[in-house]
Amino acid sequence: MEPVAITRSSAKSYAFIAANIVACFALVILTLWILGYITGLDDKKEAIFPKFNTALLLFLSALGLLFTMLKKRRAAIGSAAIVIAMAFATLSQYMFSTSLGIDQIFMRDISSFQLNPGRMSPNATFAFGATGAVLLLLNTGSGVELLRLIAIELLSIIVFALGIAAFIGRLEHVEFAYSFGSTARMSIITACMFMLLGTAMLSFTWNRQNAEVARIPVWVPALLCFLVLLLDISIPYGITVGICYIPLVFCGLWFNRPHVTFVFAAAGSILSLFGYYLKPPSDVAEWIVLTNRFITFAALWLVAILVFMQKRAQANLTHYNEKLMRSNQELDDFAYIASHDLKEPLRGLYNHASFLHEDYADKLDAEGKRRLERLSKLCQRMERLVNDLLYFSRLGRGELAIQRTEPKSIIEEIKLMMEVTLKEKNASIIIQPMPAVVCDKPRMTEVFRNLITNAVKYNNNPLPIIEIGWNAEHGAFYVKDNGIGIDKEFHTEIFRIFKRLNPSEEGDTGTGVGLTFVKKIIERHKGRIWVESSLGNGATFYFTTGERT
Ligand code: ADP
Repeated sequence: MEPVAITRSSAKSYAFIAANIVACFALVILTLWILGYITGLDDKKEAIFPKFNTALLLFLSALGLLFTMLKKRRAAIGSAAIVIAMAFATLSQYMFSTSLGIDQIFMRDISSFQLNPGRMSPNATFAFGATGAVLLLLNTGSGVELLRLIAIELLSIIVFALGIAAFIGRLEHVEFAYSFGSTARMSIITACMFMLLGTAMLSFTWNRQNAEVARIPVWVPALLCFLVLLLDISIPYGITVGICYIPLVFCGLWFNRPHVTFVFAAAGSILSLFGYYLKPPSDVAEWIVLTNRFITFAALWLVAILVFMQKRAQANLTHYNEKLMRSNQELDDFAYIASHDLKEPLRGLYNHASFLHEDYADKLDAEGKRRLERLSKLCQRMERLVNDLLYFSRLGRGELAIQRTEPKSIIEEIKLMMEVTLKEKNASIIIQPMPAVVCDKPRMTEVFRNLITNAVKYNNNPLPIIEIGWNAEHGAFYVKDNGIGIDKEFHTEIFRIFKRLNPSEEGDTGTGVGLTFVKKIIERHKGRIWVESSLGNGATFYFTTGERT
C-alpha cells in the first residue's frame, strides 16, 4: 500500500477510536448522573465533571460521528439536529438572558454556585453548534466541493480550539478561556472530549481531501496558525515566536497552487501582529519588540518567495514532462496511423507486380522480368518495415501487465524456442544467478529474445557463448557474447530504428528494429539500456528496470 493510503486509513481508524472514547466517557458520566452519584456540581466537581446536558450532547455528537462513519446518514442527521437545537436553545438563553426551562429538563441539578444550575457553558454551546454543523455538512449534499470541505475543516478546528483553550485555561487558571465570562464553565473532561471530537472530525475529513487542492489536509495550516498564536501569547516578555509561522509558509509546498504560500505568509504576518496586541506588556523596550516582529515578517516573506520559486520551477517541469509525454504519444499515434494506412496500397502494389509477372511473362523480356522481381522484393521488404513500424508504435501504446517474474524462466523458454538455431551455430547459453524482476513478462521475453538472437546472429566464433546474468556493480541485467563486437562510434546509433551495421546477407530478414524495440520496452519499464563493446571483442548489453524485487 502507498504511504498516503496508510496514513489515510490510520486517520480513519483514529477518528473511529476517538469517537468511541467520547461516546463511552459521555455514557459513564450520564450513568453517574442517573444513578445519583452526581446530583450537582460543587466547586471541585465542576472543574472535572460535565453537566448532564453537556454529557448528553457529547454522547449524541460522538454517536452522530459514528453513524456518519457507518454511512447511516439519517441517524447521523437526527443526532446532529438534536445537538444543534439544544446548543442553539442554550445559546439563546444566554443571548436574551432568559430561561427556556431546558437546563434541567432531563436531570435536576442542585449546583449552588451557578446562576442557572444545569446550564452548559457558552463555549460548550459554540463547540456543539460547530460539531452539529460539521455532522450536517458531512451527511448532506453529495460530492466533495471545496467550500464544504473547508467549512468542515474550519468548524472542526473551532471545536478543537475551544477544547484546548478551556483545557489550558483550567491548567493555567485563566478563567475566561473556560468560562467566556459566565458562571457556567467548561470542565476538564468536556474540554478533553471536544479536543478528541475536533481531531476525530478532522481525521475523518482527511479521507475526503480533495487531491486537486493539496497533498496535506487543509486543516494542517489552520492548526499551525492556532498553535503558534497560542504559543506566542503564552510566552511572556517581549519575545516573539512569530518565526514559528515558518512551517506554515512551508505548507505551501504541498498545495497545488504556488501562490498559496503568500497567503500563508500574510496569515502569519497578521497573526504575528495580532499576537503583539494580545501579549501582556513587558519590560522589554518597545523598539526591541517591534524590531523582533519585523525580523519575523522579513523571514516569513523570504521563505514564501523561495517556496513560490520552487513551486513554479516544479510546475514548469511538470508542464514540460506532460508536453513531452503528449508529443511522444502523438508520435506513436502518427506512426500507427501512417503505417496502418500504408499497408493497404503496398499490398496492392505487390499483388499487381505478381499478376504482371504471372499473366504477362511471355510478353516481357529478361530485363523486364528481373525488374518486376526486384519490385516484388522491394514491396516485401517495405511491408516488413511498415509492419515493424506498426509494431513499434504499438509498443508505446496500451498498459503494461506488470507482474513479478523470474528472468531464468524467461531465458529457459527462449532457449527451448531457439533450440535448432543454437544447435546449428554450436552456440551455448550460460545462465548466471539473477534477481526476480517486476515487469510485463511477454515484453521482457521480447527483450531477452532480441538480445540473445543478436548475440548468436552477430557471432562468427566457432563456439558462440552467450552469458546472461546480473551485474551488481551496475545494478543491471546483462547479455554478453563472444561475437564480432561493435565499434564504439555506433554504440548509440544501433538503437535507432532501421539502423543496421552489417550488410544484409542472403536469407537475413532483419530490418534493424530489434534493438529499437528493446530500448522502447526498457524505457517503458523506466529503465535504461547500453552496450559495452569494441570491434572483434564481443559485446555486452546491460539494461536496468525501474522496479526490481
Ligand atoms: P537487426 O538485427 O535486425 O539488424 P537490431 O536493431 O537488432 O537490428 O540491431 C542493429 C544492429 O546492431 C545490427 O544490424 C548489428 O549490426 C548490431 N548489433 C546488434 N547486436 C549485436 C551484437 N550482439 N554484436 C554485434 N553487433 C550487434
